[in-house]
Amino acid sequence: MQEQRIALVTGASKGIGAAIALVLARDGYDIWLNYRSDHAAAAAVGKQIEELGRSCLLLCFDVADPTAVKDTLGPLLDQESPYVLVNNAGFAKDTLMVWMGESEWKDVLSVHLDGFFLVTKLLLVGMLKRRGGRIINIASTSGQSGMPGQVNYSAAKAGLIGATKSLAAETAKRKVLVNAVSPGFIETEMTEGLPIERILPMIPMGRIGKSAEVAEVVAFLCSEKASYVTGQVISVNGGAYM
Ligand code: NAP
Repeated sequence: MQEQRIALVTGASKGIGAAIALVLARDGYDIWLNYRSDHAAAAAVGKQIEELGRSCLLLCFDVADPTAVKDTLGPLLDQESPYVLVNNAGFAKDTLMVWMGESEWKDVLSVHLDGFFLVTKLLLVGMLKRRGGRIINIASTSGQSGMPGQVNYSAAKAGLIGATKSLAAETAKRKVLVNAVSPGFIETEMTEGLPIERILPMIPMGRIGKSAEVAEVVAFLCSEKASYVTGQVISVNGGAYM
């Protein structure tokens, strides 16, 4: 019998991360659900996961805080080790470069890049030992094409894409496959209040995407069907960047 597989999804109390946690639960994974502050939202996603017949462990910590990451994940990893890691937690602090403060620069780089580094480093050991695993990093069109007002966020997401490719090259022989999924404009709290009339003309498909549409691509990359895919950036953006 195949061992029960676990997926750790960061930033999964809502939005794209919640959708990913739900499709992975549907596909048979038990979920370790990380989030930072919204306990009620995380609990609601956890309940939906349990209704799908899978277990859900709620893990409240800041992915950019080295002590919190180690203190939370260390003891768990002594017992079991996830087969899938989805580095999704993140936020934007948009402003033009001339107005950008040091904290806006550092916070955005830190949540995406330190978050990736700290969590991935801990889980990678188990994947390499097992000779199997999947790491999916949630990037952004902004990290591929650039976007005014997002110098910090574009730098972080472009960095994540570079890290994806280097790590994929390091771990391929041990069957640890590492890919990035790069969403365009997706309907979540993060995009609430953006000027839709200015955004739609940038999207050939003429609409904003849904979290579930990103989640299904992640689910594919975590499945046996994607057994020869590594080091790739898969865009889910309605054609906004080709
Ligand atoms: P969202 O709806 O704002 O959700 C963000 C999630 O990340 C929440 O669960 C939040 O937890 C968690 N989070 C934030 N900072 C965290 C931290 N330091 N440690 C742990 N968890 C943290 O955002 P989203 O739109 O789903 O975005 C998810 C990912 O997709 C992000 O990496 C984002 O950059 C990327 N993305 C989004 C879009 C888009 O159009 N929405 C496009 C491209 C890429 P709490 O709420 O519990 O604090």
